[in-house]
Amino acid sequence: MALSTAVGKVTVCCDSRLRLSGSLESAKPQAAFATDSQWKEAPLVNRGEILAWLREDDKTRLQSLWGRADALRQEQAGDAVHLRGLVEFSNHCARRCMYCGLRAGNRKLPRYRLTAEQVLECARQAAGLGYGTVVLQSGEDPGLDVAWMAGLIGRIKSETGLAVTLSLGERVPGELAEWRRAGADRYLLRFETSNRALFRRIHPPTPGQACDRIAQLHELRRLGYEVGSGVMIGIPGQSYDDLADDVVLFRELDLDMIGVGPYLPHPATPLGRYAGRFRLPAGEQVPATELMTYKVVALARLVCPRANIPATTALATLNPFNGRELGLRRGANVIMPNVTPRDVRAAYEIYPAKACIRESASQCQLCVQRRILAIGRAPGIGPGPAANFRGRQPLPQAP
Ligand code: SAH
Repeated sequence: MALSTAVGKVTVCCDSRLRLSGSLESAKPQAAFATDSQWKEAPLVNRGEILAWLREDDKTRLQSLWGRADALRQEQAGDAVHLRGLVEFSNHCARRCMYCGLRAGNRKLPRYRLTAEQVLECARQAAGLGYGTVVLQSGEDPGLDVAWMAGLIGRIKSETGLAVTLSLGERVPGELAEWRRAGADRYLLRFETSNRALFRRIHPPTPGQACDRIAQLHELRRLGYEVGSGVMIGIPGQSYDDLADDVVLFRELDLDMIGVGPYLPHPATPLGRYAGRFRLPAGEQVPATELMTYKVVALARLVCPRANIPATTALATLNPFNGRELGLRRGANVIMPNVTPRDVRAAYEIYPAKACIRESASQCQLCVQRRILAIGRAPGIGPGPAANFRGRQPLPQAP
């Protein structure tokens, strides 16, 4: 079967490399998919092709992947770059994830939890800077009161009108339902890796508690959230096959938002300290590089054309010069500028030397805006839900 797309003909049925005939320059402005069901039934890349792209290092061939992802992003998600104000409101965490600097065992980290009034002030600031969404992120904070959170969501919605995205880790269905009723719109929960054995190794379950992020993603969908997930790239122990499976899983989960970033070692974590014990032999181990991250961003766009895909802070940390711009040109359409108060920002240290920890919220806004305009795109207006999510909503009834 061959699909005619904005960048030429793409053969999708065989297990060889994605073949492109025609170039971006010669492309006709023709829609790849008229309806959601078309791409869901006939995905643009299969697992074998994904694997081949992950191992590809020919610059010319990679240009065709970037061009293809960018054309699809433009066609299916548009030119707007949606901005989400990120509030890292608590760094308390009960978990002992092997990769994350917030892990409970890290006694050197000063812990903080913002008050509702402080979070609300960040949300007001996000609205004032023109962002349409606020993302509330924290560690798996055992001190997080469910009703407090619901009250906070309600106040943000009624006072600012912003879309509210939660990223609070693993939570039980009753809590997720209560926050949805309070007005939360979206939830981000990365599955981190689709390799279950690797996941258990780097993300030990809390004794006596189920730990199934995929099940939670299904529950979030059932509750009507716009659902986001993603992975780290180059986790010690992650193979190319694992990463290809991750991309396939993005499609199977039909994600609305996909966040991917390089794994960055933190010296106060077991994975940061003893990577050698986890790492696979050369040739099997996925490198935690900028290039690999762009490949996964581009492939994520190919498997989920109508998702919102951020150019992540981790990418900007690897390449502060133009990592975000390159992400935006290779499939991404979202940036999450930080609006966390500056005095606590450095303490949300999931990995060291995080980008944008010294700048004020308005400095971040100016910097991001400049970068967006410089690549010929424009900041998005309004909450910017994923086209994928909008397509899933029932059509309004005729009067
Ligand atoms: N407690 C929430 C939020 C965690 S921080 C949760 O577990 O979902 C958000 C994301 O940062 C994580 O999902 C993980 O993918 C990423 N992250 C954590 N440690 C990291 C590291 N050392 N390098 C790169 N990304 C990391």
